[in-house]
Amino acid sequence: MTLDELRQLVRSIPDFPKPGILFRDITTLIGHGAGFSAAIDHLAAYTKEAGGQAIAGIEARGFIFGAALAARLELPFIPVRKPGKLPVPVLAIDYALEYGTDTLEVDPGAVEDGSRLVLVDDLIATGGTALAAVELLRRAGGNVVLSLFAIDLPALGGADRLRQIGVPAAALLKFE
Ligand code: 5GP
Repeated sequence: MTLDELRQLVRSIPDFPKPGILFRDITTLIGHGAGFSAAIDHLAAYTKEAGGQAIAGIEARGFIFGAALAARLELPFIPVRKPGKLPVPVLAIDYALEYGTDTLEVDPGAVEDGSRLVLVDDLIATGGTALAAVELLRRAGGNVVLSLFAIDLPALGGADRLRQIGVPAAALLKFE
C-alpha cells in the first residue's frame, strides 16, 4: 500500500476535542488490516535503518503502533505511561500542556543502559509530549536514536524541536 493510499485512511474530524481543532483520527487507519500492516512495514524499515534495539511507545495511541512494531521486529516494547499506572517505583516527568501540565512515567528497569531506543507515537504536533518522553527515557539510561510517528503536523514544529535536542524524527504522513 502506498503512502498516498495510507493517507486516505486517516479521518479528519473538525472541532475535536474542542472548537477550531481539526483532529486527525487514526481509528480508520488501524481499522484497515492491510493499511495498518503497511504502516508497520514502513515504521519497521526506519527502525532497522537506525539500528533500534527497543521500541518505546507513548500511552495510549503510541502503544498501538509501537507494540505492533516491536512485535514485528521481535524487539522489546517499553511503555511510556500516564501517571499512576505502573505497579513499581517509576521515573516521572512533568510537561506543559496548552492549559496546565501532564506527567509521563516509565519503569526504569525496562530500559537497558545505553540501549538504542526508537520512540513511537501516533502523531506529533508541538512536540511537547515527545520531548518529555525523550527526556524521561534519557534519565532512565536509554539512547533515543529515532522518533517515529504515523502523522506529523509540521506547521506546529514538533519534529524540528526533536531534531534540536539531537533526536531525528520521521513520519509516514504529513498534514498541514
Ligand atoms: P504534542 O505534544 O506534539 O503537541 O501533541 C501530540 C500528542 O497529542 C500525541 O500524543 C497525540 O496522540 C495527541 N494529539 C494531538 N493532536 C492530535 C490529532 O489531531 N490526532 C491524534 N490522533 N492525536 C493528536
